[in-house]
Amino acid sequence: MSGPRPVRAPRGTELSALGWQQEAALRMLQNNLDPEVAEHPDKLVVYGGTGKAARDWRSFDAMVRTLRTLKQDETMLVQSGRPVGVMQTHEWAPRVLIANSNLVGDWANWEEFRRLEQLGLTMYGQMTAGSWIYIGTQGILQGTYETFAAVAAKRFGGSLAGTITLTAGLGGMGGAQPLAVTMNDGVAICIDCDPRAIERRIEHRYLDVRADSLEHALQLAVEARDARRPLSIGLLGNAAELLPRMLAEGAPVDIVTDQTSAHDPLAYLPLGVDFDDMASYAAKDPAGFTTRARESMARHVEAMVGFMDAGAEVFDYGNSIRGEAQLAGYERAFAFPGFVPAYIRPLFCEGKGPFRWAALSGEASDIAKTDKAILDLFPENESLHRWIKMAGERVHFQGLPARICWLGYGERDRAGERFNDMVASGELAAPLVIGRDHLDSGSVASPYRETEAMLDGSDAIADWPLLNAMVNIASGASWVSLHHGGGVGMGRSIHAGQVSVADGTALAGEKIRRVLTNDPGMGVIRHVDAGYDIAASVADERGVRVPMREG
Ligand code: NAD
Repeated sequence: MSGPRPVRAPRGTELSALGWQQEAALRMLQNNLDPEVAEHPDKLVVYGGTGKAARDWRSFDAMVRTLRTLKQDETMLVQSGRPVGVMQTHEWAPRVLIANSNLVGDWANWEEFRRLEQLGLTMYGQMTAGSWIYIGTQGILQGTYETFAAVAAKRFGGSLAGTITLTAGLGGMGGAQPLAVTMNDGVAICIDCDPRAIERRIEHRYLDVRADSLEHALQLAVEARDARRPLSIGLLGNAAELLPRMLAEGAPVDIVTDQTSAHDPLAYLPLGVDFDDMASYAAKDPAGFTTRARESMARHVEAMVGFMDAGAEVFDYGNSIRGEAQLAGYERAFAFPGFVPAYIRPLFCEGKGPFRWAALSGEASDIAKTDKAILDLFPENESLHRWIKMAGERVHFQGLPARICWLGYGERDRAGERFNDMVASGELAAPLVIGRDHLDSGSVASPYRETEAMLDGSDAIADWPLLNAMVNIASGASWVSLHHGGGVGMGRSIHAGQVSVADGTALAGEKIRRVLTNDPGMGVIRHVDAGYDIAASVADERGVRVPMREG
């Protein structure tokens, strides 16, 4: 029986697989489980509650073995973290096809999922956990930075200087919040019930300090706010207890959001439960735990609504906390909006989303060179320049060095082709993988998040992510994944991912040009179809063909 052990992706140019396409999948699977990258590597959990990279250690070993012997015209099939077949395909086909956590509609709930998971038949793949393109907290950092920049632009004259943001959740994704706020010159109070989460963010320089108490946190926050000095403060405790208390005491908070793992009620600490007892209680009595977690979320959301009524800018940050609070009977749960309709949708209309890449060499200098290439390619894009510069200075790499930046239709393909040329010329020490989050413009149906409040009411139409996966397969991506339930939980989302390997060959260049054109193209056509004018102008200006607009 194979069991937990530390996993780390090899670096450099020596291959243990038959080609770079397979080697890249192998290294990225391993990289997702690197203790520097994964939140709970022993349990194969990468981030986002219980988002896993492989179903169990036997499956992990089988995937590693298979990827090492997989030929250039073969494809490994992965069903919820377990390799179930190898088929002969062709060299343009993906080397790996992944389907994670999918359930038939009427069965698509946590209870049924957990029953099947206990039988060893499925696993929760989250978004980039089960599709092997998680790059640590940086992966969400730019999106979070952009979101807080949009909040600043909408309400606070373009900067968060002189404001206090209150949030909870310092996990794999939520840990980006403090740095995103301070990058926008604001002050953040970030609550987490897990002392390790706070320590980890301080170690990785995402969080500045830890307060000893609520009073201490408020004192530090007010001092920094008055001096217009950016500062992020970690506060240990349960958000469902602390938020109502802060509201009652009139804490001077300007912005409120949340990134606890509310999408999975077994990953949210209920009121009155000690953090140390959380895991055993959840395992012993999942139904009782769920009821108490949802009731606590209702108190948490009620306090968020209270802050909104008192004049704060309040938004849901994509963790389904409003839906869970509503299930517990809290009627005003949806009084505040989700972040996508509030701030991000115009970017999605341009096919913009979280484009990312990782250096298989393991060399930070490869990322520095790609950063420079991005700056050269898009000289006119000021906010991109600001981001790349700040990221270069402040982002701590976790696992293989990587970078993220939001690029749109007509931009990603140019970046991808340039990167492939840089590998071909030897400027980079080894190939790059180029991928993205499933949270993207045309790859997800998620009515509580990415597709909340679509103009034509098409929030729950899930044909789009299926078409997205199919078009990426047809265009030559190196691996493609189709998941259910990521981000917001079972029954609430369907989404697809793609990763393409820039190995410097002409063939890779051809594939990358198609994939990185068609993939963001899905975002443009999805939003044209829903009636967004910005998307229609992008389609017209950049030549995206939409049959219903022709003739
Ligand atoms: P995670 O599981 O790594 O971290 C969640 C954190 O919440 C943990 O540190 C946990 O200790 C803390 N927590 C749980 N209950 C708490 C409570 N009652 N009070 C205080 N802290 C509590 O998850 P993550 O990867 O950081 O993701 C967080 C959530 O954000 C998930 O629901 C995820 O789906 C969602 N998400 C949103 C986006 C986005 O773009 N907005 C992107 C990715 C993930």
